[in-house]
Amino acid sequence: MDHIDVPFLDLVTPHVEMEEQLVAEFRAALRTAGFIGGKPVDNFEAAFAEFCDTRYCVGVGSGTDALRFALTAAGVAPGDSVLTVANTFIATTEAITQAGAMPEFVEIDERTYNIDPRKLREHLEQNCDRDPESGRPRSRRTGQTITAIVPVHLYGQMADMDPILKLAEEYNLLVIEDACQAHGAEYFSNEQQRWRKAGSIGIAAAFSFYPGKNLGACGEAGAVTTNDPQIVDMSRKLRDHGQAAKYYHDVEGYNGRLDAIQARILYAKLTHLPLWNMERRRLARHYNERLATVEGLVAPFEPQWSRAVYHLYVVRVQDRQEMQNILKGAGVATGIHYPVPLHVQQAYRALGYSNGDLPITERVSAEILSLPMYPQLNQERQAKVIKQIKECLMVPSSASR
Ligand SMILES: *Cc1c(COP(=O)(O)O)cnc(C)c1O
Repeated sequence: MDHIDVPFLDLVTPHVEMEEQLVAEFRAALRTAGFIGGKPVDNFEAAFAEFCDTRYCVGVGSGTDALRFALTAAGVAPGDSVLTVANTFIATTEAITQAGAMPEFVEIDERTYNIDPRKLREHLEQNCDRDPESGRPRSRRTGQTITAIVPVHLYGQMADMDPILKLAEEYNLLVIEDACQAHGAEYFSNEQQRWRKAGSIGIAAAFSFYPGKNLGACGEAGAVTTNDPQIVDMSRKLRDHGQAAKYYHDVEGYNGRLDAIQARILYAKLTHLPLWNMERRRLARHYNERLATVEGLVAPFEPQWSRAVYHLYVVRVQDRQEMQNILKGAGVATGIHYPVPLHVQQAYRALGYSNGDLPITERVSAEILSLPMYPQLNQERQAKVIKQIKECLMVPSSASR
């Protein structure tokens, strides 16, 4: 067992397994020269909307496109401020900025690593004034009106949506889900007494089909999901140069379409997604059973109301650098998602945040370590990851020096 290497991700195996089917899809595209739009895109949109329990899905060029179009279509406009978290991929805030708005960060929950609804309330109550006309909060930090919240369902686990929706209603805010890591994740709504799918709760949501996501294209792709026909209409325009009909442009849009080859591939893969997600949950359970009691390691926390799909399996350790090095030396690859929170990234120095502004986010980002997690991770490889981690933490650190 000691000689096998464990890669962080295995994207080759699923594609080899599906090779015949995927090649047939590509051949069908060649023989019809249907590369953009058309039936393959319609078919995938219908199937993915059904998967997400939404009325509509609009296929677009990437997750970043999806989030940007969803924000704009929902009504986020230049001069707005939008609340989100700093422990996420930069695409979350890029989309906010590209929609003309300014990101403003809220602290995360130390156990779930997602937006903390109590901190969200505190932020709205303590750092904002109320605009008497719209009822919306005006941020004292930016002087701008806050119009939306973007909860990120990070690592495949949904944010605590009931209290977020309640606050959004109270403050007249739009909720746009960043579901780019959460295809198929579920949340038990106490309010509605039912399980709800990621992407079906906010006014709109964004998904990414970047190859490494739980549902990945063979290239770039993304989707907006919503129940709102007006958001569908606007998202369709935005992805296609603002066109209502060919060469009739209602607004200025983008080149942000989902291509037909990716749509065919995604349609074929979508049938496997429930099984792949089940495999991820099974692997997570096994990791938990073996690691949760290991001293010096914090395993992921899945609340009662959550069914996470484990896009990533993230643990926390004090000396992350040392653990990552030891694992690497033993042939186990790991990742960090994400090493530098957005509020202290170089790209956002103009926002005026500094170290210490989000202490939980900062502490978490210094300790998180993503372990290998993918449906094709076999028992032998997972056992090796677990063994190496245990060895690393059980050796007193004085002896390891
Ligand atoms: C992947 C991802 C995105 C962006 O998706 P792309 O398809 O790469 O543009 C946005 N937000 C989060 C949280 C992501 O993980």
